[in-house]
Amino acid sequence: MDLTHRPRRLRQDRVRGLVSETSLEPTDLIAPIFVDATTDERVPIESMPGHERVPIDEAVARVEEVRETGVEAVMVFGIPASKDPEGSRAWAEDGVVQEATRRISAETDAYVITDVCLCEYTDHGHCGPLEAELRGDTDVGEGGPACDPTLTVDNDATLGALDRIAVSHAEAGADMIAPSGMMDGMVAAIREGLDRDGFEHVPIMSYAAKYESAFYGPFRDAADGAPSFGNRRHYQMDPANAREALREVRLDVEQGADVLMVKPALPYLDIVGSLRREFDHPVAAYNVSGEYAMLHAAAEKGWLELEAVALESLLSIKRAGADLILTYFAEDVAAEL
Ligand SMILES: [Zn+2]
Repeated sequence: MDLTHRPRRLRQDRVRGLVSETSLEPTDLIAPIFVDATTDERVPIESMPGHERVPIDEAVARVEEVRETGVEAVMVFGIPASKDPEGSRAWAEDGVVQEATRRISAETDAYVITDVCLCEYTDHGHCGPLEAELRGDTDVGEGGPACDPTLTVDNDATLGALDRIAVSHAEAGADMIAPSGMMDGMVAAIREGLDRDGFEHVPIMSYAAKYESAFYGPFRDAADGAPSFGNRRHYQMDPANAREALREVRLDVEQGADVLMVKPALPYLDIVGSLRREFDHPVAAYNVSGEYAMLHAAAEKGWLELEAVALESLLSIKRAGADLILTYFAEDVAAEL
């Protein structure tokens, strides 16, 4: 029996820390927050225990809660006062994200990242204006446009809107812009818009490989962004595809993305790992609402220990290659670290 090699030697208590390959710090984490223009008081989000939609007046207080745990960055999502087919409240100067961002950046030191998309702002819940046939501008015959599975969001018409939204967020004081709609050319359109209007210093974190995932369910409760018909598979990625993710991400790199995000995180750690190997850019992973909700649900049943599985999840995401993690566990885990 040859036991020259005994890996257990380095697993003894006082040496484990010295040989640990991965560490997790509160400054690696970004806390998503939900600001809701339709409410005057905080509204708990049922499928995401511990999270609430807060009114604009409480946005600063909400960010201060995050900062107290040691987390320095927030991702702001907005629920607008009203919706329309174009999602015009998304770029309104007095829009919900713009108002909240203005206050947060004036009154706190938080690093403010804003989500740039249209799905929370359009009345149909898709990530951009619909193609003409879907809008009903032309006759599509029997069954109606919503029944035609080949129709979807008008990619190129969406790009102009994303430019306006990004610039309006930067004007309000956003430190970083995070487009999540998976439109072709979105990073280039936003980079051009920001540079044109004097925001060349504002980085873009692209949701570069965002999958059409069933793990987003609880978020749709939170942000009221479920599509009213169809799904998002014409713009978000097929969960079956890994090589395509590299192609998608390469396009965003060419268009000037500063940070590359994979969403969701845990079911897509292979993608996080391959981005880490293929690119030198910082890699972000979004530990999504479903990943959060399932651990909470299991813990509620007494089947898992919440703090331990939350920490292990985030550590695994870092080990796979993520530099930063967007997570609903940010505050809880940071407080423990
Ligand atoms: Zn969207």
